Amino acid sequence: MTHITRRGVLQAGLALPGIVEAAYRDAPSGKDSEKPKRFEEVVGFEVEEAVAGYPLAILPLGSLEFHGPHNPLGSDAIIISGIAERVAVRTNGLLFPTVTFTQCPAYTAHFRGTISVRPDVMTMYFSDILRNILHLGFRNVFILNGHDGNIGPGRGAITQVAAETKDAALLFVNWWEFLSSEMMKTMGMFHQANGGHGHGGPLETSAVAAFRPDLIHLEKSRDLPEPPDLSRGAPYFLQKSTATDWPGYSGKVSEASSEKGRKLVQISEDGIVKLVENWLSRSEVPGSW
Ligand SMILES: [Zn+2]
Repeated sequence: MTHITRRGVLQAGLALPGIVEAAYRDAPSGKDSEKPKRFEEVVGFEVEEAVAGYPLAILPLGSLEFHGPHNPLGSDAIIISGIAERVAVRTNGLLFPTVTFTQCPAYTAHFRGTISVRPDVMTMYFSDILRNILHLGFRNVFILNGHDGNIGPGRGAITQVAAETKDAALLFVNWWEFLSSEMMKTMGMFHQANGGHGHGGPLETSAVAAFRPDLIHLEKSRDLPEPPDLSRGAPYFLQKSTATDWPGYSGKVSEASSEKGRKLVQISEDGIVKLVENWLSRSEVPGSW
């Protein structure tokens, strides 16, 4: 019987990079097979090269939050990680790990499964992450957000860090804002006044299904009365401390599908890529545009 020692395993492992390289070389070429460079996979000796070789650091923000009985708790993180992966490939960005333990609003925080960090702690936590990314040497940081609870702390942190740093630019966007209610109504995918938007609603459920259809259980939810469209196009911010009798999701979820989700995610991805390209190609133009 061969006795395998730990040293033997480690030494055998040294041959692995060659095997992995061969596997990648033989992988089918094409858009879907391209993988982004991930920060957590940068090896110690490569740090300087990685910082110098990528014009952009991409930081996705997700959550762990109840999204109705039919959706996974990591819905926001699943959507934003999937979009960020594609955006990183298309914009030559270095992809940082998705920040997943974040702040959830009061009206979802009491549902079992939600994990929420206090907003003031979150602002400090985001600030430290951004400070460290800038300290590495990145000057352009793209924060790609998948969860509304991150908007306040995220923008607070960016404002704080930008004020202390020289020559840095930090861009923050929410993926769902590339799918305006008007655009959604024109597409006619979802038959509710706000075009399918809403927490755990048909639009968001479809987007989760675009990446992880195996985690969607539409049979566990029933359709709810459609949420009101207060904005009529103008953005607004409504925060409730409680939402009595609310089941933790919204809208006609039976209209969700992975096919719709793939279309929506593609539209958002294309809009985000265009925005980033416009931003980076005009970075020399002075002003606070
Ligand atoms: Zn969500």
